[in-house]
Amino acid sequence: MEKSRTSPKEEGQSMKRVFLVGWDGATFDLVRPWVEEGKLPNLAKLMGQGIHGSLQSTLPPWSFQAWSSFMTGKNPGKHGIYDFFRSPLGTYDLEFVNAGHRHGGATFWQVLSEAGKQVVAISIPGTFPPDPVNGVMISGFDFPGEGPGSFVDARGMYPREFYHELKRNVGLHPIDPPILKEMEQGRFDVALERILETTRQQAATAKYLMDHRQWDCFMMVFGESDGVSHYFWQYCDERSPYFVDHPAGLRDSILRVYQEIDRQTGDFMARLPEDTTIIVLSDHGSGGVSDWVLFPNRWLQDKGFIQLRGGSRQGMSRLREKLKQWGVATLPSWLQRFLYRNALQALGRYEARVRYGIIDWAHTEAYFDENPYFPVLRVNLKGRQPKGIVEPGQPYEDLRDRLIQELENWHHPVTGERIVEKAYRREEVYSGECFEEAADIVPKWALCQGYNIGFRLSSKSPDGGWITQVDAKHPGSPFFPRKFSSHRDEAILVARGPTITSGTTVEGARIIDLAPTILTLLDVPVPDDMDGQVIPEMAASDPTNKEAPRRSPKNGHLSDSQDLLSPRKVSVEDP
Ligand SMILES: [Zn+2]
Repeated sequence: MEKSRTSPKEEGQSMKRVFLVGWDGATFDLVRPWVEEGKLPNLAKLMGQGIHGSLQSTLPPWSFQAWSSFMTGKNPGKHGIYDFFRSPLGTYDLEFVNAGHRHGGATFWQVLSEAGKQVVAISIPGTFPPDPVNGVMISGFDFPGEGPGSFVDARGMYPREFYHELKRNVGLHPIDPPILKEMEQGRFDVALERILETTRQQAATAKYLMDHRQWDCFMMVFGESDGVSHYFWQYCDERSPYFVDHPAGLRDSILRVYQEIDRQTGDFMARLPEDTTIIVLSDHGSGGVSDWVLFPNRWLQDKGFIQLRGGSRQGMSRLREKLKQWGVATLPSWLQRFLYRNALQALGRYEARVRYGIIDWAHTEAYFDENPYFPVLRVNLKGRQPKGIVEPGQPYEDLRDRLIQELENWHHPVTGERIVEKAYRREEVYSGECFEEAADIVPKWALCQGYNIGFRLSSKSPDGGWITQVDAKHPGSPFFPRKFSSHRDEAILVARGPTITSGTTVEGARIIDLAPTILTLLDVPVPDDMDGQVIPEMAASDPTNKEAPRRSPKNGHLSDSQDLLSPRKVSVEDP
């Protein structure tokens, strides 16, 4: 027996609605077999009654960048969110980013709000501070809470008063599960229960809003599918070099979180009128990490592009990283809270010293940013970097040509596999007002025997070499990872609705295509500057809506370079 379904709209108003559930990091590599085994019944139902297919993430497939492209329908060169950090022009600094750094105009929920549509958006990464919308918005995990495991307060909610309403009727809305200390202490079973509990708490907020607000577009992202993959992959994938089959009960940990999210998705579905369009998507895929670890700037040093200092500088950089890790594990929560709230800028600068402290800028032409996921390359350019040595113009282009050639000829010393699948010049993948902040070369890193290579700071290279193998059977051995899965390019897309044909697969959809597709589903014109295209399997172009028809790269809406955001499409369409 169901009591209050979302109340139907006033007579004469459009009844079209779109409901989205984000399963952060979800991959068909996991989902497909589980759906076939009947373990994700609600997702299976949507797949059977609607469409599904892989969804191309951004390059690199970082959550922040990917969700920012999702909400704007734009490539990162327009919205300017490339990573959790940005490198302010004219410095070697790093700065934490949040939604306040997003450029490029309106998100699709702002476009909807302006068109008079009502929206609800919960826990979407890259949404602090929350946008003033026609409806309710709760910030995602970039909300500067009290550190891991804390809750979104009024600052992370629009309108602010909703915080009190939610607290009174449902409780506090968690940002992410409090698991870091538990994992540090090896209590993974406790951590798993907290992840499941956080998922349920977040879903409770969504259910409350479904029952107490009118809406045309409703969105909620579960981050726990990503988190559980990062921290529990070694218990679940017996082919992983880090696989351990104990403690008992953790073998199904990723499945249990996916099942909890599937159950919540089913609860949502049961509350929705039949004619609602339901979309389940992720922002990127997931896959295991390799026991091979790279020190990217050491390789650049071998090739003569960078000079690294040894001795005390190297020691300082290592010490700084140790301090950082120690802080996460042991600092009292009041101090972590203080740092999160008041010292973000200082923390960014600290991170920059950790990463760049050993670089001798006067003898460096190019450097990797050495982020631990998908390092990108910057040229030490005169007039842009404080101690730049490479002349702009032809010398810059020649250097990039040489770097790309080297990157694409870079092979694993043991397996012989390519290290970089393809290296892109930034203008091949990004364009727009924030283009200048982009890295100069963006590698698409290859997998090593099916697993993501790990990246570590060059200051930590044991022998000055650029690659090493981890002793994967001994936690605590050098370079043993903290995360056992990484991100992959292929996200998931599943959708069911009145305009969607059932049982078909969709090919070539990209995360930037969602925003124009959602606007079209809700009869709202697509702004001209969105890079994405309406996904034809989801929304038939409305003949009364001149802005909406699918735009092909060839009719001038996208430049050839932006098209490379979707390499698969290029290979099909190019002669
Ligand atoms: Zn993600």
